[in-house]
Amino acid sequence: MASAAGDVWVFVETARASASDGLTLATRGSAERPAGLRAAEVSLELLGHARELAQQLDVGTGAVCAGGEEARALAPALVAAGADTVYLAAHDLLSEYLAQPYARVVTEAVRHFQPQIVLYGATTTGRDLAPRVASALRVGLTADCTDLRIGDHEVKGVAYSDLLYQIRPAFGGNIIATIVSPEHRPQMATVREGVFRLPLPDQGRKGHVVELNVERVSGPQAGHNGRPTSAGGPILLDDLDFATHLVRRRHEAKSVDLKGARVIVSGGVGVGGSAGFELLRELAATLGGVVGASRAAVDAGWIGREHQVGQTGTTVRPKLYIAAGISGSVQHRAGMDQSARILAINSDPLAPIFSVAHYGIVGDLHEVVPKLIKAYREK
Ligand code: FAD
Repeated sequence: MASAAGDVWVFVETARASASDGLTLATRGSAERPAGLRAAEVSLELLGHARELAQQLDVGTGAVCAGGEEARALAPALVAAGADTVYLAAHDLLSEYLAQPYARVVTEAVRHFQPQIVLYGATTTGRDLAPRVASALRVGLTADCTDLRIGDHEVKGVAYSDLLYQIRPAFGGNIIATIVSPEHRPQMATVREGVFRLPLPDQGRKGHVVELNVERVSGPQAGHNGRPTSAGGPILLDDLDFATHLVRRRHEAKSVDLKGARVIVSGGVGVGGSAGFELLRELAATLGGVVGASRAAVDAGWIGREHQVGQTGTTVRPKLYIAAGISGSVQHRAGMDQSARILAINSDPLAPIFSVAHYGIVGDLHEVVPKLIKAYREK
């Protein structure tokens, strides 16, 4: 029976950003909140799930975090979110995300501490970083997982126990594939934001910090041939790691916070055009919610991509999700079927959206939505 030891790790993204940009304060609700520095919500969500996976495997959880000196302040929040050990590379050279030095830090940390699983957010940063680490370590990587579980598998008569089931839609969402990496460690996956619940911070959790020492050297000395460089010593960053210079960082706040919304009023092809979305905006404003959309409505140019809900959009779990003129494709449902209450408005009584809806109204949304607005206003 083949199995591997090692902890379950999460790469923690950090950024300095405004409260409305989808990054959350890592110390949410804590008095130790560091000014300006935040951990991406997806990293905290992954830490919560890593904790569950680690419990099943009877191992620990690790948060690998790189940043400037101020990144040190995040450690208590990462422990509160589920990390037993925070592997911290805090150095001015790492104060802004750059693919090469970050990839080297994570690669060398993995080589040295040998986790069996490493998870990344399927964000711009995670998608940039994880393949570089996978390539350097010669291991597999499954992108955009929608679930992660632990299970056994048998290949050609060899039984493997406690593998990471990397679960994601495949072939246009028509099948759900379970991908395993039986031979190579670590098993690595990226996971979209919102797939796992944000854990409630447990300020009583105990954890510790392991410093990853980083040193800048000149010339290509740091082992760019794939040689390990960190055998107990500092992680060496050389000129090639800094071949890219960050000239300017421009931050644009998100125009809509779908993940944080309690009420989402989403529109699809049935809305009929951008003017139809005005009606949905009015209903959303009446209910104190925000506007979402199907991909077909986004592709038609009726509303911005940041409003898209679903497999390739945002995964949401609001208290109330109203789907107006949305058929309910498997890709759309994948992003909203965990909502607490779903109201579907569709002129077709056989529309698949009704199979996940708690309440359904069969009718023309252009007649139904104004009546809903009127009814709520009169309440
Ligand atoms: P349609 O399927 O055309 O449905 C329109 C609905 O409106 C119909 O049910 C119709 O009965 C109803 N209707 C029409 N007029 C009215 C009216 N006046 N009043 C009430 N109802 C009316 N889709 C997503 O949404 N999110 C994703 O993240 C996503 N990712 C994808 C990823 C991949 C790899 C692929 C292949 C597809 C993805 N899609 C995604 C697209 C998805 O397959 C569907 O094409 C899309 O969700 C359909 O959008 P829709 O329901 O608005 O349109």
